[in-house]
Amino acid sequence: MLPIGSTIGILGGGQLGRMLSVAAAQLGFKCHVYEPEKNPPAGETSAILTTALYTDYTALEKFAKSVDVVTFEFENIPSKTLDYIESIVEIFPDRKALKISQDRLFEKNFLTKLGLETAPYLKVDDVTEFKDAVKKIGTPAILKTRTMGYDGKGQVKITNEDQVKQISKTFKTSNHILEGLVDFTKEISVISVRNSKGEISCFDPGENLHENGVLKTTTIPAQIPRALITDAILLASKILTALDYIGVLGVELFISKGKLIVNEIAPRVHNSGHWTQNGCVIDQFEQHIRAISGWPLGDGVRYMNVTMENLLGNDILNTEIISQDARAAIHLYGKKETRPGRKMGHVNRLFPKN
Ligand code: AMP
Repeated sequence: MLPIGSTIGILGGGQLGRMLSVAAAQLGFKCHVYEPEKNPPAGETSAILTTALYTDYTALEKFAKSVDVVTFEFENIPSKTLDYIESIVEIFPDRKALKISQDRLFEKNFLTKLGLETAPYLKVDDVTEFKDAVKKIGTPAILKTRTMGYDGKGQVKITNEDQVKQISKTFKTSNHILEGLVDFTKEISVISVRNSKGEISCFDPGENLHENGVLKTTTIPAQIPRALITDAILLASKILTALDYIGVLGVELFISKGKLIVNEIAPRVHNSGHWTQNGCVIDQFEQHIRAISGWPLGDGVRYMNVTMENLLGNDILNTEIISQDARAAIHLYGKKETRPGRKMGHVNRLFPKN
């Protein structure tokens, strides 16, 4: 067990880092956040902030030597940076999960090997592979970059032959996959956690609605059959165990024709788990800090029904109106600049559990 007063290093200073640092402070830890951008959301809530590039090895060394354990709040940290940090201090979750989730092809291969269903997919490295993949998978389909994609970025939906011709003419970069479009009825996610003793806890699956590829709301409980809820939890546990994982893992699933299809896994706390801050005694942020610190896991049982709504862009201007609802728990990220679609905060609305 990491002693109280230890320092946790967090790579990335966004809202997830901010909420992790608040949870860490509650347990008596200090946080040291490392973030290339100035004035990050997590800087305001952490004991120490380093503003430096991920390629600044002097700053990385100082950071790594100042902390007792390192975690991260987003996946796309350069592997050389992680190699360097890891030569000094342990990183949780470990590199295996990151390697898989950083690359959509590795991720889908891993899930398939585990016997889980994904959208049909093929790797696309050139025009010939692209045309071949369209022939085999058919349309509608989605061409996705293998790496660095998030919130629907780096994705093109392909619905007709003209588009195939157009992309064939301009396709230059390698490292893509083509995914068949899943005809889903609902999107759900399971926020799961595992500690070094192999103990696992999963929060109730939430039902997610997206707007332009960005999560808008998560509603708990998901309105799906009980058996699917159990299956989703077992599926997440299977992934955690296969990865010998330590920390919180988000598992995004489609429900299609009564079956669970894995969309992607995120080796970190997850936007669709923000409802746990007000619906549970121990939330996803505390579970993550507990897991990476070698503490026993908390009880993730849910006490309320919750709707989590992301405040995107100018939605933040409605804060005063939202604040008039006494059952609306507001969480703002302290971002200085509002941009369309930018995650500025979220609100958890609570309802009695029936
Ligand atoms: P992703 O960044 O891959 O999670 O994609 C963002 C959103 O796009 C998902 O939450 C889905 O709503 C949608 N999407 C992505 N891939 C597929 C797919 N193969 N079939 C249907 N919808 C998809």
